[in-house]
Amino acid sequence: MCGVFGFTGVERDIETTVGTALRALEYRGYDSWGVSWVEDGRLTTRKRTGRLAVGALPAAKAEAAIGHTRWATHGGVTDENAHPHCASSGRFSVVHNGIIENADALRGELSRTHRFLSETDSEVVPFLLEDAARAGVPVEDAVVQTFMRLDGHNAIVVLDTGTNRIYAMSSGSPLLVAESDLGAFIASDAIAFHRQATAMTPLPERTLARLAPDGVALKADDAVEWVRPAMIPVVHRELEDLAGFAHHTLREIAQQPGVISLLLEDGAETAALASAIRDAQQVVFTGCGSAFFAARFGVSWLSAMAGKAAFAIPSSEFAECMPMLGPETLVIALTQSGETADVIDAVALTQASGAQVHAIVNVPYSTVARTVERTYPLHAGVEQSVLATKSFVAKLARLLLVAGDLAGRRERVEDDVRKAASAISHLLDDPGMQERIEGLAARLAAREHVFLIGRGVGYAVAQEAALKLKEGSYVHAEALAAGELKHGTIALIEDGTPCLIFGSGTGSAAQLASTAQELRARGGYTIGIGDMQCNSDSPSCRETLDVSGCGDAEPLVQIALAQLIAYRTALARGVNPDRPRNLAKSVTVR
Ligand code: GLU
Repeated sequence: MCGVFGFTGVERDIETTVGTALRALEYRGYDSWGVSWVEDGRLTTRKRTGRLAVGALPAAKAEAAIGHTRWATHGGVTDENAHPHCASSGRFSVVHNGIIENADALRGELSRTHRFLSETDSEVVPFLLEDAARAGVPVEDAVVQTFMRLDGHNAIVVLDTGTNRIYAMSSGSPLLVAESDLGAFIASDAIAFHRQATAMTPLPERTLARLAPDGVALKADDAVEWVRPAMIPVVHRELEDLAGFAHHTLREIAQQPGVISLLLEDGAETAALASAIRDAQQVVFTGCGSAFFAARFGVSWLSAMAGKAAFAIPSSEFAECMPMLGPETLVIALTQSGETADVIDAVALTQASGAQVHAIVNVPYSTVARTVERTYPLHAGVEQSVLATKSFVAKLARLLLVAGDLAGRRERVEDDVRKAASAISHLLDDPGMQERIEGLAARLAAREHVFLIGRGVGYAVAQEAALKLKEGSYVHAEALAAGELKHGTIALIEDGTPCLIFGSGTGSAAQLASTAQELRARGGYTIGIGDMQCNSDSPSCRETLDVSGCGDAEPLVQIALAQLIAYRTALARGVNPDRPRNLAKSVTVR
């Protein structure tokens, strides 16, 4: 979601400092950008809708600057609404992440004395600061007073032109501070520090940060003195270029076999998670979006393979399951970014309940990774496409290997997972398969509705496949448990309606073949994926894409196939799958 960056220190070119940092944050998704900088004591601001292209920033040098990539929540996507927002005195420039829940009341109050130039909730911040400063409040107290008036989860970063200092505070919206011999830095994601800062630390909640050329100082709520925080070395995470692929989505799909191999080599972490699950009475998986569907796989595999009581709850609904949490419950949070607001809340609720919480997380040192008792890595590297692909398959591989360990058939499952990795490589290398995927994508792209059907773990495959199609190509895709079809949705099947049927899940092949027949009898264009116990002449499926032969790991291959179908459907509909509309990579607002 929105990205924040700021620095103060040795005079530097704003393109290399702020431009590079904001582009490192762009994978999170944004609709507009803006930068304020101080040059010879004067504040200049440039902000625009759209992408921050190289060269969009003027060739200026600055000793202090702040930058923002906005993901609009209040007010349309316009140049005026982009951040930073400045007070009329020109003293303060502010970037904000989050939602100020009492913005309407504050705007009402402030509009008596200030002229708002934007429709955002954020613009109240520079006006509150200006009023406090005019009343003689020292700037650091003014920042704290202002922040305390904001309801909701927010992070604010303030550039004080007079002193070239940057002040920041946050609550429920992460910020990190950092240093190097170039000066002091602040960002919403450590990836922005790449090649600029050497040491960093998260900014604690409701703690004022002061960045000056000689480094960072912090002052907690009730403290009188500034303290220099202890820092750890910056964890450098490299963004990758397209490496000859047309999109990051395709590059990341192609990286999946390599990621699976890393997970296979990481047996110690698999064993550690299996042992934590063994010790718990019940397991609750939680996550959002694709991660919630990964949780559904976890439930299927733990219960069917290992006989373990397991549940999956979307993090946004987590409060509902509070009554069932106890000291014997292990909550496992699943998250790519480790910054998803609803997951952070679910972790906090778990901790308040006294249950244990572990996390399977891709980004080391993220908020979730820092907060939980134990984390298990995904080894997926930086995922730049908004669509989760390799991080999702990594979650599945991790969970399946754990279930295999718990079920006492570790080696067999490892073998299946290894076969799945080569089957995924084969999918990408086989020109015949690529042609079939393109044919299918052309069919899906021409329709308004697509249905995806499965049983057991196959239903979880259908859910994730439907999400990929929706977000990648904007085709309406609905996933259904096969048995539910005749309880209503079959009424929507008409001549040519594409129905993808995922044939995984124990003992379900024959039942799925009957479901396929029912659909076909109503005109549905049935496409069987996986072990459908039918072939192209069979009466149930008009087409089959056979990806069977990987035992328990077959769903991983089906998911890779679904990703490729969604990717091609996106292209057929003219959508850039790396950056679908309205979506951000990490959803840091509630
Ligand atoms: N609520 C603010 C806005 O709409 C900030 C959004 C963001 O976090 O990018 O401008």
